[in-house]
Amino acid sequence: MSPGHFIPIIDMAKLLAQNGPTATIITTPLIAARFRHTIDRATASGLPLRLLDLTFPSAEAGLPNGCETLETVTSPDLLKKFFGAIYMLRQPFQQLLEQLEPKPTCMIVDKYIPWAAETARMFRIPRIVFDVMSCFYLLCFHTLHVSKVHENVAESEHFALPNFPDTIVLTKSQLPGLFNPGSLDGVHVKEFRERVRVAEAEACGIVLNTFEELEHRYVNEIRKVNGGKIWCIGPLSLCNKDSSDKAQRGDKASIDEIECLKWLDEQEVGSVVYACLGSISRLSSPQLIELGLGLELSERPFVWVIRGDEKAEEVYKWIQGDGFEDRVKGRGLIIRGWAPQVLILDHPSVGAFLTHCGWNSTLEGVCAGVPMVTWPIFAEQFINEKLVGVVLETGVSVGARAAVQMFEEDKSGVAVKREAVRNAVERVMGGGVEAEERRNRAREFGEMAKKAVEEGGSSNLNVKSLIQDMMEQVIGMGPTEDHQRLL
Ligand code: UDP
Repeated sequence: MSPGHFIPIIDMAKLLAQNGPTATIITTPLIAARFRHTIDRATASGLPLRLLDLTFPSAEAGLPNGCETLETVTSPDLLKKFFGAIYMLRQPFQQLLEQLEPKPTCMIVDKYIPWAAETARMFRIPRIVFDVMSCFYLLCFHTLHVSKVHENVAESEHFALPNFPDTIVLTKSQLPGLFNPGSLDGVHVKEFRERVRVAEAEACGIVLNTFEELEHRYVNEIRKVNGGKIWCIGPLSLCNKDSSDKAQRGDKASIDEIECLKWLDEQEVGSVVYACLGSISRLSSPQLIELGLGLELSERPFVWVIRGDEKAEEVYKWIQGDGFEDRVKGRGLIIRGWAPQVLILDHPSVGAFLTHCGWNSTLEGVCAGVPMVTWPIFAEQFINEKLVGVVLETGVSVGARAAVQMFEEDKSGVAVKREAVRNAVERVMGGGVEAEERRNRAREFGEMAKKAVEEGGSSNLNVKSLIQDMMEQVIGMGPTEDHQRLL
């Protein structure tokens, strides 16, 4: 229940509906409200889409009113209650399923709703998991889970993933919480994640927001280790063709669409750095300020997105008080709150994406055909950075060393200095053969992404085969016996 999950799920529902079946989206009211306009536009154009919501039991779970997505969960105590509220949705979800006509042919459920496994069994509806990760990440996950290589190393000791197609070197302090839970141990996150893992392994298959040409070796490897089916149907963001859909994707943007496009139109082609660190803010204010100073030092036009929370308040005061705003006038566009990310990335003036490497953002950067400046912060982001930097060779790291785990706000002070930001921007946007080749590779991946979703492209064919498998019920009710043994 965070933007990185519900945004691609809504895109997937639209994509399925564009290909024939009726797609019913079941979510909670605040999330539904963020997509109401998009869905209304889609249904008005004739797409068979339905948006239903279940009341989110905030009060029953002891959550403050409006705490309905992970963006507003700010402490381990709230997280525990938030998990509790998601569990409470099971009963109303079952009631809704009983009433739903016609009965669904198949359920595609976000991987972090593991109780849906029992519900699907109860109603004898085949269940597919929607996983927001890449196959590269899934193989890293599988390798860590099986080899446990990270268990015998110190926090900052480098280790390579064993028997891996590429040489991927990480440290334990860069791993997602499952492998390095930190202070979240007390919230039973480990047990929850184990249930997620089993529910995923028990599902009839996995739908992924990726495309085969991007990571074909990893798609093949994942097909080998996973007994169920894998459908790579992305990049899902490309199903948004209409500029209003792009501008309103995920939430109402904090900047007027016309104003934003006008500013971008005034910049030279390929000259702008777009900097956005995702939907959940974890960096400290001094670190965010250092990022701003790095953008200033780069001497290039930039769009800088700052989340609208308390930290942003301090950063905003600094922006105005320190004279930063005046110094970057005309060449710096600051968006405070929600940015229309895909609309911006699609604009020809954008020449680089400074990203936290959330999987959606990474893939949106790939679609835009621009090189990336990578600044991973938590979860799977350090692993995605390796895909971009080492495998695709389209990114340059700012050199972040350790994950900021949930609720452990960045204590390292200013770990990434402004010069590191400037240097990484220079390496992706500047002159020289290496930079030119990187930009060419990024452009080629962008073209491949677009081809994958066109009629006859790999993802387009995978969507059709997913629909056919669902309709013919060939996916059955669960994994093969071989696969069960892997659990
Ligand atoms: N996003 C956006 N505007 C913002 C921040 C984020 O549209 O100001 C979208 C972004 O395009 C992506 C999603 O929110 O689709 C964030 O997902 P991602 O996996 O990149 O990162 P997360 O926020 O889950 O860390």
